[in-house]
Amino acid sequence: MNDDMLAARAPEYVRRIARYVPGKPVEELAREFGLDPQAIVKLASNENPRGPSPRVLAAVAAAAADLTRYPDGNGFALKAALAQRFDVRPEGIVLGNGSNDVLELVAHAFLRPGDDAVYAQHAFAVYPLATQARGARGIEVPAKAFGHDLAAMHAAITPQTRVVFVANPNNPTGTWLPPEDIRAFVAAVPRDVVVVLDEAYNEYLDPAQQANATAWIDAFPHLVVSRSFSKAYGLAALRVGYGVAAPAVADLLNRVRQPFNVNALAQAAAVAALADVAYVDESRALNAAGMQQLARGLAALGRRMLPSHGNFVLVHVGDAPRVYDALLRQGVIVRPVANYGLPEWLRVTVGLPAENERFLVALASALAH
Ligand code: PMP
Repeated sequence: MNDDMLAARAPEYVRRIARYVPGKPVEELAREFGLDPQAIVKLASNENPRGPSPRVLAAVAAAAADLTRYPDGNGFALKAALAQRFDVRPEGIVLGNGSNDVLELVAHAFLRPGDDAVYAQHAFAVYPLATQARGARGIEVPAKAFGHDLAAMHAAITPQTRVVFVANPNNPTGTWLPPEDIRAFVAAVPRDVVVVLDEAYNEYLDPAQQANATAWIDAFPHLVVSRSFSKAYGLAALRVGYGVAAPAVADLLNRVRQPFNVNALAQAAAVAALADVAYVDESRALNAAGMQQLARGLAALGRRMLPSHGNFVLVHVGDAPRVYDALLRQGVIVRPVANYGLPEWLRVTVGLPAENERFLVALASALAH
C-alpha cells in the first residue's frame, strides 16, 4: 500500500482539514532572505513584546532542575492558584497545552459526526479546525461590523448543535462585546449546548471592561471559560492555558486530555505569572500606548484600522499579499488574514515602541512602491 492509498483510509473529514498557518518564525525569514535574525521584528502572533516577567524566568530556572520527573498530571499548584484568584473550585478547572488545547478538548468531548458547532465569521481559526477534526459540521454565522452577531448566532443553533464558540475579544478582528451581552447570550442558549467563551485576550482589556465570567458558571453549567498564559503573561512558547467549567464538564475534559498535557516548566511559570499582577498591569499599559502609537501612525498614512480590544490591530492595506511581502523584505513579519475572509487586511501585533515604529516606516515604504 503506498502513502496515498494509506492517506485515503483516513476519514474524509480529516483529509479535508485545511492546515493552521502560524505566523512566520523569525529564523525562517532570516534563512529565506539572508537577514540578520536580530534585526527582524515579529508582530505576527500576538505575543507580549516584553516577554515573561523576571519572576517567571526565575521559576522556570528553578523548575528546570528537575526535568527528569514527569510533571504533576493534575496540576495541583496551578489549579490551586487559579482557584484562589478567581474564586472557583479546582474540580472545575482543566489545564491545557495552551488554551488551544482546551478548545480541542471541548470538541473532543462533545462533538461527533452529525453534530454541529456554531461560531462567527472572522472568528479564531481553531474553532472550524477543532470542529472538523471531529467530523462535525461548522455553522459560520455572518459577522456584524466584523464582530460576533450574538442574535444571529443564537438563531443559528440547531437541534444538532452541541458547541458554540464565542471569542471575546476576538482574534483577528479585535472586536469585543460587553459582558452583559455575553451573559444574556449564554443564558439564552439551551442547557444541552456547551458555550465556550474564549477569553485569550482578557487580561488586555481595560479592568473596567473585564468581567469575571467564571463567576457565571454556577448559574450556567453549560459554560466553559478558556484563558491563556500565551498573551499578556508572555508564555507563548511554554504552551499553557486553562478552562473553567462546572465540575461535571471539567471532569469530561480531564478524561480526554493527555495525562501530562501541561509540562512542568509551564506549570511553574504559570503559577509565578499569576502572582505577578504588576507585570500584567504594566503590559496592559504598554499595549494601550502602543495601540495609540499605531493608530496615529496609520492615520498619518491614511490607512483604516479596526478599533481593537486585544494586543493587535487589523489594518486595511488593499493588496495584502504584496504589502505582506514588501514588509517581509524589510524584516517585518505581520500576519495575513485572507484565511479569515479578510483578504485586504493585515493583522499587526502591538510591539515595543521601537518595533511599532519599524513597522510604520516599513509600511509607508511598502505602500509607496
Ligand atoms: N483563542 C484565541 C482567540 C487566540 O487568538 C489564540 C492564539 N492565537 C488562542 C485561543 C490560543 O492560544 P494559546 O493556545 O497559545 O493559549
